Amino acid sequence: MSKLIYLDNAATTSVRPEVFEAMKPYYLENYSNPSSVYSFAGEAKKAMEDARKVIADSLGAAATEIYFTGGGSESDNWVLKGVAEAYQSKGKHIITSRIEHHAVLHTCEYLEKHGYEITYLDVDENGIVKLDELEKAITPETILISVMFANNEIGSIQPIKEIGAIAKEHGILFHTDAVQAFGQVPINVDELGIDMLSSSGHKLNGPKGIGFLYIRKGVKIRSFVHGGAQERKRRAGTENVPGIVGYGVAAERAVRTMKERTDKEIQVRDHFIDRILKEIPYVKLNGDRTKRLPNNVNVSFQFIEGESMLLMLDNYGVCASSGSACTSGSLDPSHVLLAIGLPHEIAHGSLRMTLSEETTMEDADFVVDKLKEIVAYLRSMSPFYEDFIKKQKN
Ligand SMILES: *Cc1c(COP(=O)(O)O)cnc(C)c1O
Repeated sequence: MSKLIYLDNAATTSVRPEVFEAMKPYYLENYSNPSSVYSFAGEAKKAMEDARKVIADSLGAAATEIYFTGGGSESDNWVLKGVAEAYQSKGKHIITSRIEHHAVLHTCEYLEKHGYEITYLDVDENGIVKLDELEKAITPETILISVMFANNEIGSIQPIKEIGAIAKEHGILFHTDAVQAFGQVPINVDELGIDMLSSSGHKLNGPKGIGFLYIRKGVKIRSFVHGGAQERKRRAGTENVPGIVGYGVAAERAVRTMKERTDKEIQVRDHFIDRILKEIPYVKLNGDRTKRLPNNVNVSFQFIEGESMLLMLDNYGVCASSGSACTSGSLDPSHVLLAIGLPHEIAHGSLRMTLSEETTMEDADFVVDKLKEIVAYLRSMSPFYEDFIKKQKN
């Protein structure tokens, strides 16, 4: 088999060697519990607080506003359930979008079963929320707006600053799931009017099982994990010191190298998209052409199944995804592709390829060359395609 071409960086990323090296001593040498009083533990605590400061600085936040969690899903669960409970005397209405990650959507469904009312905003055909609909959805009962920064499937980037301004104008809290955006797009929580923000280590070359929730000073939120007094009494559990240290290194590097890294990714991404749209017929790009994550390619090929493409790409050592990793294994098409208005049969022919800084133009060319063959082959066996061509000739 040829070399591995990993194009599934929205699902997870590799841990960078410098991240791993920074973590190692906190497994092997200083394995202390940072809550202990001896100086051995003090060193671990310092490393953890240094990471917190690095992450806070990168967002224009204070270190005391960063709370480490077990990942993006936990941060999303915490924010929704914790704010819902803390503000229920003000109201029980939450606004979110149809294209959120399941960590948000399934938590909202849970809250609906517990007496909360959720508005799911529609998006336009490029996967961008409509601000006038947001304004219209607000009621005196609305306590929280939760709209993701950038979508994990189609890469569309939301008008976060405008949403932040609307939230502020109405005195409503604003949370954003920035798991895909942090480290890829510049973020300043004050400039954008963000009150809470979720992030996850493993989406930016850090370790899995570590995330954070930024909570603006003054925001009330109930605890989600009860127990010890860690994380300023808001999130119990012995801290994942190696994870936190690795996250800090990964976040610092991601933010420091953002410009050059994403410039390169955008070049490869655009080459990828241009060649596919030009050289393969009956194909559609999903997501906004420009308001788009630097590393996201998502296309629908008519008359074929995304799953079949994945298997054939796998034979060439290419890792990609159809829809989102969480929905693979189910026959339902992705909720995001349906929300942008794709008919089921087109949504089923979708392919997501998410690049890294290591993806080269040669990789892109290799994959597009293979895709052309694969698409032609699968269409040659498709009765739908055969019918379509017959009708075209008549
Ligand atoms: C991956 C992802 C999550 C979940 O993060 P985990 O750390 O894997 O729990 C949440 N939201 C978005 C947008 C994601 O891409």
